Amino acid sequence: MTVPELTLNDGHGIPQLGFGVFKVDPEQTERIVSDALEVGYRHIDTAAIYGNEEGVGRAIAASGIPRDELFVTTKLYNDDQGTDSAFAAIDTSLTKLGLDHVDLYLIHWPAPARDLYVDSWKALEQIRERGQATSIGVSNFLVPHLKRLLDETDVVPAVNQIELHPYHQQVDVTRFGKDYDIATEAWGPLGQGKYPLLELPKIVEIAGLHGKTPAQVVLRWHLQKGHIVFPKSNSRERIAENFDLFDFELAAEQQAAITTLERAGRVGGDPNEVN
Ligand code: NDP
Repeated sequence: MTVPELTLNDGHGIPQLGFGVFKVDPEQTERIVSDALEVGYRHIDTAAIYGNEEGVGRAIAASGIPRDELFVTTKLYNDDQGTDSAFAAIDTSLTKLGLDHVDLYLIHWPAPARDLYVDSWKALEQIRERGQATSIGVSNFLVPHLKRLLDETDVVPAVNQIELHPYHQQVDVTRFGKDYDIATEAWGPLGQGKYPLLELPKIVEIAGLHGKTPAQVVLRWHLQKGHIVFPKSNSRERIAENFDLFDFELAAEQQAAITTLERAGRVGGDPNEVN
């Protein structure tokens, strides 16, 4: 099974499908990430605030997979925004991960009330120059936050990782991303299980037509939209299910029918209010 690789605006590749570890218990992380690596995932999305970077690092070390075959993302949390604190935070994350660099380092939230995301971004530019991160990007940035970065700094983010699922498609942010070659990473691709996405009759019907599960149909919709996704699961069975996406394709009208499910409803925090 070959996961497609997308090329970021800095020329580096990223596997379009990965494994996310938000809310994966730190005590269980090594085992669960080891399961994901065994299934075939090579892209892991974590964050300092998840508290499980050590477990991710242990799973990577135990896997014996060559470093250049893995893609690891972590994120700078709001409390660490600023110049010196960002430098300290990447050092801490790399120590916990047991790595000398991550493939992608993100500002986790714009945290506008702190007004530090421009300074933090300039620090990430230096972190990239030092080789501690191959690519740099942002997360939960809305169009005004992105515009400000483009106006006041030198490097265009390689990605913007945003809440995105059929109920909440963030068309304005994704269009801006297309215009400026900022790849869209969709967090909560399955809506975090917080609304009955996988039970919607349209999704269930399309799944039945392909002999796939509703989750596979929703993840396939993301891939065909060009999003980068890293669904999370604690269950080995679902980890395998979420990786098994490359033997079917949604027809244009099926893809369009899922797109019409938009309700502009977040399941997570509002980026203007998370600080
Ligand atoms: P997801 O949309 O991936 O949903 C995860 C939920 O769906 C879990 O409850 C899981 O349950 C369930 N699930 C997973 N697979 C299936 C399946 N095949 N069938 C039915 N249910 C399933 O939400 P996440 O929030 O985890 O998003 C993915 C990743 O995005 C995160 O892990 C993290 O890496 C990133 N993220 C980033 C954020 C940011 O601010 N930048 C915010 C939130 C997430 P179970 O575990 O029991 O299988």
